[in-house]
Amino acid sequence: MGRAGARLIFGLDPCRTALDNQPMGTGTLTIDLDALVENWRALDAKSGAGTETAATVKADGYGLGAARVARALARAGARRFFVAQAEEGAAIRDALGRGPEIMIYSGHMAGDTDMIGDLDLIPMLNSIEQMTRHMEALPDSAFGVQIDTGMSRLGMAPAEWAAVAELVLAKNPRLIMSHLASADTPEDPQNAAQLEVFKDLTDGLGVPRSLAATGGVLLGPDYHFELTRPGIGLYGGMPFADASQVVKLSLPVIQTRTLKPGDKVGYNGTWIAPRETVLATVSAGYADGLLRAMSGQAYLFNDDTACPIRGRVSMDLITVDITDLPRAPESLDILCAAQSVDALAGAAGTIGYEILTSLGQRYARRHLGGGVS
Ligand SMILES: *Cc1c(COP(=O)(O)O)cnc(C)c1O
Repeated sequence: MGRAGARLIFGLDPCRTALDNQPMGTGTLTIDLDALVENWRALDAKSGAGTETAATVKADGYGLGAARVARALARAGARRFFVAQAEEGAAIRDALGRGPEIMIYSGHMAGDTDMIGDLDLIPMLNSIEQMTRHMEALPDSAFGVQIDTGMSRLGMAPAEWAAVAELVLAKNPRLIMSHLASADTPEDPQNAAQLEVFKDLTDGLGVPRSLAATGGVLLGPDYHFELTRPGIGLYGGMPFADASQVVKLSLPVIQTRTLKPGDKVGYNGTWIAPRETVLATVSAGYADGLLRAMSGQAYLFNDDTACPIRGRVSMDLITVDITDLPRAPESLDILCAAQSVDALAGAAGTIGYEILTSLGQRYARRHLGGGVS
């Protein structure tokens, strides 16, 4: 039985029901690689000639497809890529081939030696234990060092660094880095405090240094050193307010219905129609990273017209009020020019990073541009 038949049997309003030619599925995530490259160039332009701009492509390129992202940035001139874990580094090496440097924030973990050695990955050593592991297993293989300057998350403590600095420096580290905890808040005194600690620990060593992610790039030249390593700004997220939008997410409308005043919507009937209401059901939900916290808070868009989510976001479906549209659209956009990643994040009480890295695997990912045909 075709869908038209099913529709009749279930007695849905045929004028308002999903268009028969619409493929089922959970939406299309369009990734504009030209916008990504533009963002990388714009961040690169914020630092001087002595500073190289790398790219952080961990967590599958913040959910957008690490291989495609890394290839587009390499084509634009990026020569160093940062990932969180060795496995991610292996995927980037596979995408880029030999040449670009691939650096691993989590360092040299037990079990990663073969991957690091065979694929020429560069671990940022975070402890004396990691340093010992690296020196013993891969004594001739490149490495960097991460120092904890006040975030208390990853890296050698200042005292630990002091104990091994001489030994490390004799082995020619590629990079000494640290990470800022509050770079998204320029006026936070923690930024200057971490900068001072970083300089105290590393001034005059003659080793390339990196302190800045996206937020640090925007804090100005004192924070740039020889290498910056932005992530979120490349993908169009705050704190890079001037970023070009990289993602668009369109969700197919798979059913519509007309509600009478008083009809309830969704689990637990949390929304009750105050008037005759046209409701569209779109095919995506919290299993696709559209957080349940967006219930009653976020909008979907038909061009510039905002259509509020009604009732609870469920696992695979979201119900949207399209009463004010002239007709039911084939799809509605939840990330688009009218609603940025950060606007959607705000509606869900989270940050753009979490929205991007939650984007589910059921979407069809379409990559545009990036210098590939
Ligand atoms: C994720 C990460 C980055 C990139 O940060 P953004 O805020 O996304 O630019 C840089 N450095 C470290 C250590 C990270 O964990």
